[in-house]
Amino acid sequence: MKKPSMKDVFSRKGLLSQRFPGFEHRPQQEALAERVMACLDSGGGGVLLAEAPTGTGKTHALLVPAVYWCLEDDRKILFLTSGIPLQEQIVKRDLPDLCSCLGVEDLSYGLIKGKANYLCRLRGKEISERELLAHLEPDLVLDLVAWMEKTETGDFSELALPPGHPVISALSAASEACRGNGCPFRESCFLRRVLQQAQEWNIIVANYHLFFSYSASTGRGFPVPCDAILCDEAHRLTEAARSAASLRATGEEWARVMDFAKARVFPRMDWVSDHDRQRLALLADEVKKESERLFHLWKKEVPAGRIFTDEAGPPDGPGPLQGLAGEILEAAGEPPEKNGADDRESAALLHQWRDSVADLSHRTAWCARVDRFPLWAYWWDGRGINSSPTFCGDLISDWFFAKPLEALVAVSATMAIGEDFSFWEQETGLQATERLVLDSPFDLDEQMSIWVVDLGLAVTDDGYDDLVARIAEQLCDDNDGSTLVLLSSLRLLRAVSERLRSKEHPYRVLEQGELPRSELLRLFRQDLSSVLVGSVSFREGIDVPGEGLTQVIIDRIPFPHPADPVLVTRKILEGPDMFFDIVLPRAKLLLKQAAGRLIRSKSDRGRVVILDGRVLSKRGWRITDALPGVKYRKVEVELGKKE
Ligand code: SF4
Repeated sequence: MKKPSMKDVFSRKGLLSQRFPGFEHRPQQEALAERVMACLDSGGGGVLLAEAPTGTGKTHALLVPAVYWCLEDDRKILFLTSGIPLQEQIVKRDLPDLCSCLGVEDLSYGLIKGKANYLCRLRGKEISERELLAHLEPDLVLDLVAWMEKTETGDFSELALPPGHPVISALSAASEACRGNGCPFRESCFLRRVLQQAQEWNIIVANYHLFFSYSASTGRGFPVPCDAILCDEAHRLTEAARSAASLRATGEEWARVMDFAKARVFPRMDWVSDHDRQRLALLADEVKKESERLFHLWKKEVPAGRIFTDEAGPPDGPGPLQGLAGEILEAAGEPPEKNGADDRESAALLHQWRDSVADLSHRTAWCARVDRFPLWAYWWDGRGINSSPTFCGDLISDWFFAKPLEALVAVSATMAIGEDFSFWEQETGLQATERLVLDSPFDLDEQMSIWVVDLGLAVTDDGYDDLVARIAEQLCDDNDGSTLVLLSSLRLLRAVSERLRSKEHPYRVLEQGELPRSELLRLFRQDLSSVLVGSVSFREGIDVPGEGLTQVIIDRIPFPHPADPVLVTRKILEGPDMFFDIVLPRAKLLLKQAAGRLIRSKSDRGRVVILDGRVLSKRGWRITDALPGVKYRKVEVELGKKE
């Protein structure tokens, strides 16, 4: 098949216009597709960074070049994004539509979801009806058992259970109990099967967390090789990498691992004497007792949120616990070489338990030793001891280029400040060979304005919450609802919701946390005048074009919490330039994300209201560089009056 130019595909009379009803020519989309194609074609490990604002049509601009590049030489592309809805849309709608439109028949593709999305066949066999009944009604248990018998994918999305349901956690392939090669179901394991199928696909869609967690845990990288990587929603990359690299240990986990050994592992070790089994059980009790002592001590003496430093680590260390863990591993020994299926299973169980003990011992010691401070942050969260890399750039670049790549493309609506990608490049460690910032396809100057309200109070001042609540209420009244209110703390969220709900208003008030997020968003979209009050996590994933969202209120420039352990440690690492090099650019990108909720289509109109006078008064911060170049109004909100 001859590869067409991107102009042949995306232009006003191109292939997409002939076959997609309602196709709209967008020069930004065509430009992005051309640059992606050129980057893939150039080979040699080029890195293209592209900021593509809402409405560019970036998913198609990534997929079309990917399709042709893969077909040209039977190549493989890993397409990374962060959320399952977009991943499913790509494999169920975008790629099938594009293939049919472009006349492509021999492209293979598919989705690898995170491990927690697949049924573990072994857990399905082992779990008792009593355990299932603890979480589900009897008729639902019957449905679940029938599904486990007949499912061909093991994908929990085939069930009507919400993500994170306890039954899913208990049955998923992400559970610590995977027996790897010793599993009797390994040939039909759903997760293994999808990884095997993916070896044959041209386009493999997966999420960042899965990619980074394989990289962090195996050191060998992602188990499906590829020639190039395309990263959509690339603003999520750093946090996904940090989350995959972070370590945590709790006393509960130690207790669970030792209880598991006594109940399931030691009784199956028929190659040791009763006396040795009893000794192992006693040792497991000792390990559990020592872990309880240590974690109780930390709980008693260390306030939640305390950050450890090289000079002030946790009281008492994990030495005795590690010593006991080593002793029990030595006493359990390696399983003997035997051949029966039952022997293999017992051996696999012992191997898997040994790995869990070694891993937990490593995590506890790593977090308590504090010996990589300040390259790593360490803290106690009230229940567990934690450690996270302060800076992830080295890890990310190593993980992406663990094997040679022909190209890497990263695209997002919020990566650059003005034309400048240096903050994103610094945080990810990925040095671009090409950079591209596309204009918005919307007439933003015409469609939106930004109001700045100076409250005259700092967030720590008395009366701040009350003033924000009153102003938010007035603005919602003036706008007849249709507002998204994004607040910097849960305390403030409650204050604003309470204020809005304390009186009758001609609009419905929806509050984050009162319903599952998807249900809340459905109601917000459906009820055009409703007001949704949410925290910073609602800065992303809200896409409400039209009259349902004509005002976004943001209470302040979203600086991170000053007690954030990673940030505090980073400050020690970076010194006085930290504010301008890290804190400020990060806050600007978060503000840009929040403001980006407003205009989602050409017909949208509205205003963003930021209740923080520093947006205009702190000229040296150059906050407006990160926001759309539209009209700004410094506004005083008159409380108690209609606009
Ligand atoms: S290989 Fe692991 S995840 Fe797969 S069925 Fe066996 S135990 Fe479960």
